[in-house]
Amino acid sequence: MKPFIYDLTFEQWQQWVIDNGESAFRAGQIFDWLYVKRVDNFEDMSNLSKSLREKLADQFQFVTLHEIARHESKDGTVKFLFELYDKNAIETVIMKHSYGNSVCVTTQVGCRVGCTFCASTLGGLKRDLTSGEIISQVVKAQKLMDVTEERVSSIVIMGIGEPFENYDAMMKFLKVMVHEKGLNIGQRHITVSTSGIVPNIYRFADENTQVNLAISIHAPNDALRSKLMPVNRRFPFADLIEACKYYIEKTGRRLTFEYALMGGVNDQPEHAEELAQVLKEMPLSYVNLIPVNFVAERDFKRTPRDDIFTFQRILERNKVNATIRREHGSDIAAACGQLRAQHMESSAR
Ligand code: SF4
Repeated sequence: MKPFIYDLTFEQWQQWVIDNGESAFRAGQIFDWLYVKRVDNFEDMSNLSKSLREKLADQFQFVTLHEIARHESKDGTVKFLFELYDKNAIETVIMKHSYGNSVCVTTQVGCRVGCTFCASTLGGLKRDLTSGEIISQVVKAQKLMDVTEERVSSIVIMGIGEPFENYDAMMKFLKVMVHEKGLNIGQRHITVSTSGIVPNIYRFADENTQVNLAISIHAPNDALRSKLMPVNRRFPFADLIEACKYYIEKTGRRLTFEYALMGGVNDQPEHAEELAQVLKEMPLSYVNLIPVNFVAERDFKRTPRDDIFTFQRILERNKVNATIRREHGSDIAAACGQLRAQHMESSAR
């Protein structure tokens, strides 16, 4: 199978044009067609010679994201279910904020991490996406926004999959997204979220990037975390906290902890107290409290509003910053993986 045209970084294009007997400036032109003019075929690349266009068409293919479903929420969130060339389905979400539009991208078809509250992991991991397949989700979102002259201003790598288990593709994705000749998204406007793949937290800390990191912590101790997130048995809580401390020390950057509140499971005052004690030692940490979305296949209840505020107050009383995440698209099955899970179920019937 040919690689995807979005699979190459700018530096790889520079090498490719030289290897193919073309002038170096052609790399910039190709990048411009892909990410600024956003064409979806080789013929439209009109300032490239016919022979160069033929070489490109010979060696690469465009990613086809065939839209199977689009769900639009009252709050402006749009959730897409796209079919890939191999019939696998992925989700991409556009969210509207007061400060701009963000896109949530998928990095894997399914996920093997197995978090008990997540629909994305139902059915396990099918395969990794290539960097080009991750990039194409943002390009597609931007093309949709072109109609209303809007811009993708931020990206969250929090869709289906564990980005740190598809690390190299994710890093290539980041390189292309922030490139000044491409979509030129500010590094600080991108957030990658991990369930706690400890070795790659160290690796990411050493990357010298301004991209934000979020840790899905979801429990204040080892025992409860292992129940909710099997990944905790591979990388225990204490090791995760050590890696987080290293990240903060190495980068001097704020670290966000995602905490999905599950009624009666991890949302009690004692959980908040325990979490505060753990995070107190990390002055730059910040907790994002997420009222868990209902997933039909999973048996979790929502935390009552007052209890969410109590949880937040306990953290803040302990000098741990915490916000409650605004819900996006709760009327359209916006929890990660829900649309895909429904699609897999109906295809299996
Ligand atoms: S929450 Fe993320 S890491 Fe956990 S199973 Fe779902 S997609 Fe995988």
